[in-house]
Amino acid sequence: MKKTYDVIVIGGGPAGYPAAIRAAQHGLSAACIDDWQNYDGSRSFGGTCLNAGCIPSKAMLESSELVHRAHDEFAAHGINVGKVEVDLAQMQKRKAGIVRQLTGGIEMLLKANKVDGLQGHGRLLPDNEVEYTDPEGKAHKLKARDVIIATGSTPIELPSVPFDGERIVDSWGSLEFTEVPAKLGVIGAGVIGLELGSVWRRLGAEVTVLEALDSFLPMADKAVAREAQKQFKKQGLDIRLGAKVSAAEVGDTGLTLSYTDAQGEQSLEVDRVIVCVGRRPYTEGLCGEGVALAMDKRGFIEVDEHCRTALDRVWAVGDCVRGPMLAHKATEEGVMVADLIAGEVAEVNYDVIPSVIYTAPEIAWVGRTEQQLADSGVEFKVGQVPFGPNGRAKAMEQAAGFVRILADKASDEILGVHIIGPMAGELIAEAVLAMEYQASAEDLQRTVHAHPTLAEVLHEAALATDGKAIHALNK
Ligand code: FAD
Ligand code: NAD
Repeated sequence: MKKTYDVIVIGGGPAGYPAAIRAAQHGLSAACIDDWQNYDGSRSFGGTCLNAGCIPSKAMLESSELVHRAHDEFAAHGINVGKVEVDLAQMQKRKAGIVRQLTGGIEMLLKANKVDGLQGHGRLLPDNEVEYTDPEGKAHKLKARDVIIATGSTPIELPSVPFDGERIVDSWGSLEFTEVPAKLGVIGAGVIGLELGSVWRRLGAEVTVLEALDSFLPMADKAVAREAQKQFKKQGLDIRLGAKVSAAEVGDTGLTLSYTDAQGEQSLEVDRVIVCVGRRPYTEGLCGEGVALAMDKRGFIEVDEHCRTALDRVWAVGDCVRGPMLAHKATEEGVMVADLIAGEVAEVNYDVIPSVIYTAPEIAWVGRTEQQLADSGVEFKVGQVPFGPNGRAKAMEQAAGFVRILADKASDEILGVHIIGPMAGELIAEAVLAMEYQASAEDLQRTVHAHPTLAEVLHEAALATDGKAIHALNK
């Protein structure tokens, strides 16, 4: 017999599982089908984010940053630890434990909310039927009034440097290294390249990053990108811009990457290479015969601003649709759709989705960059204040970087906040909240900030938009 639900979600990552849970919170019957499989064949909910992305990468970033601090910063605090030794097996074990706890937590949440968590493959059939194939290969017919597609994304492969899972790996493969490569190549100086390049650099690898574009971090505010490039260079990340990789020759002990840059033909010998040149939407095996789901040229499922596809009562959310490939964007979309299905008014404010790069210093921003404002002819004022004079940053021995606030010259509304510095990923939350409520720079100026905190730099930057900063020179 065909089991029927109010809502079936295909995909159990940060877009899918919150959608199923929210649907259940509305009293709707819901199932969440997820096909994630780990290297050892085990299955777990949570998608890329929990199993292979946000969470394991942040665990390794945290551990490797502690290694760096013990090595380079503890002495300044008067702490002598002698030779710092890395136990990579323990580091990986800790990371795996965090992933296990969090993915297990999702399974519990699904159960507690009475969502049917179904591990296996989901295929959309006409009239909102879904074929669910369980891990034993048995197919089951399900039906739902509403179907939410949340099938996520997968790494883009370069034809000239195909993944072999050994020497040429994607981000997930590089999070599983069992030894620190002496020489590591990274193709792509995007978010993954910088985060994972930082992890292995701090653990002792010689890291060379090959980036095809001539500009560094073009999506970030120019001033932040410039400062970031300076800081990464200081840390020993060798970032080569305008480098177009044409081939990889794998040998017994390593590989040679051939690339061209402004100087001509070049080659780079490395032990391993991480290819992180972006991700593409994943929809393989999703649509059964007779299901004509519209996709754009890049393979994203076409949706409107409420994540409705062209098919009746079929929705799509997260990495498989347009917009930034970020876990929090995915979750907001999933929850919005579940609310809409339940008849509530809901939307995602795409103008204030924060971006964070978890390097050291961290980089975070929300809203528009200086380039974007200039291009659209908006007149704006800038308040930029360094972390240097901030007491908390000094106490942390982490005083590099700055906060930069861009506000409308006429209305004073905050249009963009760009941070490079300690805990930027946490600090940006205040800016997101301010912008969600269309705060002015003056609103932030009049908000009391505890002392001594890093957030005082945000406050000073707001003051600086009007030349009123106290602890920094107003330019
Ligand atoms: P996914 O997480 O990819 O989940 C989709 C799920 O659907 C998967 O489990 C997949 O197996 C399943 N699936 C696919 N097809 C089917 C099918 N037919 N039937 C059943 N199941 C199916 N984002 C951040 O915001 N912050 C970060 O710090 C961050 N760090 C990252 C680090 C790395 C190394 C990577 C790779 C990504 C990172 N991201 C980060 C991006 C983030 O992981 C994604 O934006 C997020 O996971 C997207 O969620 P999703 O639910 O749309 O897709
Ligand atoms: P990305 O788009 O951030 O960066 C890819 C980089 O590779 C770009 O700089 C691009 O110019 C470069 N590139 C493309 N083709 C190339 C080539 N042939 N040779 C050399 N360089 C090339 O993509 P990513 O770093 O792979 O990350 C994928 C997605 O995952 C991103 O959308 C990102 O938002 C998400 N992610 C987010 C976080 C976070 O929020 N902290 C962390 C990791 C990943």
